[in-house]
Formats: sequence, structure tokens, C-alpha cells
Amino acid sequence: MRYLILSDIHANLTALEVALAATEGRWDRAVCLGDVVGYGPDPNEVIDKVQKLVVACIRGNHDKASCGLDSAEDFNPVAKRAALWTREQLRPENLTYLQNLPQGPMEVDGISLMHGAWQDEDEYVFSPAQALDGLLGAPTAVSFFGHTHFQGGFSFVDNTLEVISLRPAPGNNLAALQINPKTRYLLNPGSIGQPRDGDPRAAFAVADLEHGVVEFWRVPYDIEAVQLRMTEAGLPEPLVMRLSYGR
Ligand code: ZN
Repeated sequence: MRYLILSDIHANLTALEVALAATEGRWDRAVCLGDVVGYGPDPNEVIDKVQKLVVACIRGNHDKASCGLDSAEDFNPVAKRAALWTREQLRPENLTYLQNLPQGPMEVDGISLMHGAWQDEDEYVFSPAQALDGLLGAPTAVSFFGHTHFQGGFSFVDNTLEVISLRPAPGNNLAALQINPKTRYLLNPGSIGQPRDGDPRAAFAVADLEHGVVEFWRVPYDIEAVQLRMTEAGLPEPLVMRLSYGR
């Protein structure tokens, strides 16, 4: 079974559609690690699509804030404005969809899914020290997380924790990671809708654990079209600008 691993789509329909077109026929089941909405201009369209697409989706902090499960008090002003804008746009059934998204971690077919850290869905995992709990605590050898919008991850074998910074080079759509059966992995597919690792292309992963391969993908999309919809919607300028830089 091949899995399409999506995370942090952030209401960016253009980026999601390009990712799906690029990987047509290359996966069997799709999962989502949360932050379906927030920041981007297409919350209803993205929820409609994700609902039909995935076998499992856990909630992210922006999903909680956008559907009123969280007050967004700890969000920065720009993120909070986007969350409140999203809440106003959501059709009632899509508000309910977000409210009912399960909390991670969740296990699907022997793969653990989490939005943030293993022990706390809202905690960021940037450093090896922050990754250790997930690497050791998850019941599965391979786990995926999101939240940071940084593609890559961590591996652990023989008491050695290593950072995986494998990403597709400019001009390449994918970089393949060989999975060692004795090694534990905590992997981040990156963000579809708002990458922050310096590469503005939409990021995601395709995992084929039967054949021991995880592909990290990057695909270019029409960023200006998304920025135009954001500006027309009155979403904050810094959110519009950062899509150009992927930071
Ligand atoms: Zn996010």
C-alpha cells in the first residue's frame, strides 16, 4: 500500500490540486496530519476536497482555532486574524467537520500520525531533543508529523539520533529516502499550503513501506493566483508575502 501524506494544507486549493495532479496513480490511500485550513483563501473548497480524499485526518491547531474549539488567544495577531476570517467563511457542515476531527496521535495501517509532537499536538518538533519522545514513544517504526512546515525529519538507530534533511533539489520533484527496517523514523512531509523551509514549492510525501521507500516531494504551483485571492479576501499582507519565499 502506498500512502500520500499531506500536512498543513492551510486552505491553499491551488497547491493541493497541483500535488494531486503530480502524484496521480502513485498512491493508494491518502492521510492528512492537520491544519487543513487557516492562512489560505480556500477553506471550504479544501475541506470539501480533503473529506473525499483521505482515509484519516487528525486536527491541527489552526483547525481548532478556526472552528472555535480554541480561542486563538496564543496565536500571533496575523494568524489570529486569518483564523477569525476562516471561521466567518466556513459553511456550517464544514465547521462541524473541523470540530469533529480527531486528536492525534493516530495509527493508520501501522503508521503513526501526529500534528505536532507525540506527547502534545500543539508542540513544535524542530530539534533532535524535541523528536526523541516521538521516536521512542510511537508504537510504529515510522511516524509522520507536521506543524513546523519543515520537510525532513529524524531517525534513530543504535542509540544514534540523526537529522534527515533530504529534500528535492530545485528542478527535481522528489527525493527518495530508503527506510532501514531496524531504524525508527519521525518524518515531516512539509507543508502543502505554506512552506517555511525556504522552498516555496508545495511539500508532501509518498510512503511505500512495503518497499522501504519514503519520497519527499516538491511541486511548483501558481503562487500569484493564491496571493491574489488572499488579497481580495482581505487576508493579512505578511501571509500573502511569505508564500513567495517559502519562509
Ligand atoms: Zn500549520
